[in-house]
Amino acid sequence: MSHDPNCLFCKIATGQIPSAKVHEDDELLVFKDIHPAAPVHLLVIPKVHVASLADADDSHAPLLGRMLALAPKLAREQGANNGFRVVINTGHDGGQEVHHLHLHVMGGPRPWKHG
Ligand code: 5GP
Ligand code: ZN
Repeated sequence: MSHDPNCLFCKIATGQIPSAKVHEDDELLVFKDIHPAAPVHLLVIPKVHVASLADADDSHAPLLGRMLALAPKLAREQGANNGFRVVINTGHDGGQEVHHLHLHVMGGPRPWKHG
């Protein structure tokens, strides 16, 4: 599996940096955001390094589908029973700060807003 040794989320995926994991399988890792913007704030990442959604193509469709399909189950398990939001910040103008593809899953009792 292809990792970038300088990438923060690759280091989390390989266990070099600890995280509060809530799900792991062959392809995906899900952990709690270190600075939550909502009562439930999870990050769904592929274990393989993909820098951003802008680097994805048709070959990534199954991976992207799995990332999305996991969101409702995890949101429920974490207590976001009344709805949630998914966000993929992409590139500089998209506000992406960590350059490893990740899906934010944010939910829980309002009021809250995505910062
Ligand atoms: P972006 O702006 O790239 O979409 O979001 C990156 C997210 O990663 C931010 O919400 C930030 O709080 C989170 N984050 C940054 N560094 C770490 C870390 O070391 N551990 C965890 N769990 N989350 C992080
Ligand atoms: Zn990476």
